[in-house]
Amino acid sequence: MTDDATRKMQFLYALRSKGVTDKRVLSAMEAIDRGPFIRGIFAERAYEDMPLPIACGQTISQPSVVGMMTQALHISPRDKVLEVGTGSGYQAAILSKLARRVYTIDRHSRLVREARELFDEMDLTNITAITGDGSFGLPDQAPFDRILVTAAAEDPPGTLMDQLKVGGVMVVPVGQSDAVQHLIVVHKTPDGVEYEELRQVRFVPLLEGLGKDT
Ligand code: SAM
Repeated sequence: MTDDATRKMQFLYALRSKGVTDKRVLSAMEAIDRGPFIRGIFAERAYEDMPLPIACGQTISQPSVVGMMTQALHISPRDKVLEVGTGSGYQAAILSKLARRVYTIDRHSRLVREARELFDEMDLTNITAITGDGSFGLPDQAPFDRILVTAAAEDPPGTLMDQLKVGGVMVVPVGQSDAVQHLIVVHKTPDGVEYEELRQVRFVPLLEGLGKDT
């Protein structure tokens, strides 16, 4: 077996052992190589199950957390998905393998530009990456079947909830940035909203306005 094949097998094994069992999610994560989304000295650690630094003082999330969040969304191939927090673009690339259309938004224009370059190189034509404040969602494209927030909010954001279809699912880390946060799955039903708590996590905060690029 080549080094690459062994590394991929270990990567998938780590995901399964941490509860990522959905076959469609695992095959999307097998199809999208995390390596290109990490630049510089951390690139060689791309296949370890840990968050890593990216540009603009941000992070690419831990693969098993990416897998858990994606799994919790139960995405169908017809779905239109909004991701808030493009970061490296890795999560959006995985979503693009599962959904019809993906919109991803980040407050750092540099991150959006670099993610777009990777989407083009990988021929992921169903992703639109936008610079902006994702806490306002994307009213022009709403409503969404699924919404994924990859930065921690103090509460599930009401504006995003309004942009979620009835029958839709939103996954969002909730809590203060310096405290324990909980990954919350929000189901919007005809009768109201149901919340399910998945696990504890640690994410950078959902901030307002546009970020200063570095
Ligand atoms: N999903 C990313 C990936 O696959 O690499 C990781 C996201 S990183 C943990 C969180 C991202 O949320 C950062 O890139 C940060 O700039 C972004 N962010 C924070 N607040 C935001 C906001 N209000 N609107 C848009 N993006 C925001």
